[in-house]
Amino acid sequence: MPTVVRIDLGPCINCSLCRRVCPTEAINYFSTGHRTHVVDPALCIGCDICVQVCPADCIDPDPDYQIDPDQLERAKVKARAFAKRQHTATVARKQHARAAVEAVAAAGSGARA
Ligand code: SF4
Ligand code: SF4
Repeated sequence: MPTVVRIDLGPCINCSLCRRVCPTEAINYFSTGHRTHVVDPALCIGCDICVQVCPADCIDPDPDYQIDPDQLERAKVKARAFAKRQHTATVARKQHARAAVEAVAAAGSGARA
């Protein structure tokens, strides 16, 4: 069973890397008052991605939090949707880049003719 993570706010430098990579959008940022990044345990699937990118090494498993199996399933659905959106965006970027390269190549061959 994966373990929900929590952020130790002391060493956190609010770089937002964890928030940007989280596939379930479980990390919230509050910019008012004390700036903080907080994990929503209801959305966390314990994938560890945020732990691996954190430059301050301040994200750790929260052994006290027990994940409800239904909650975990809902979070996984959200993570799969995130991965699909990322894949679609990557394919679109590659197609756009290929079309741009072909347009430049065609313009170049036309200029030489
Ligand atoms: S462990 Fe995964 S799901 Fe949980 S907050 Fe980190 S990146 Fe998000
Ligand atoms: S990646 Fe680490 S240091 Fe950066 S905001 Fe997240 S918890 Fe804080």
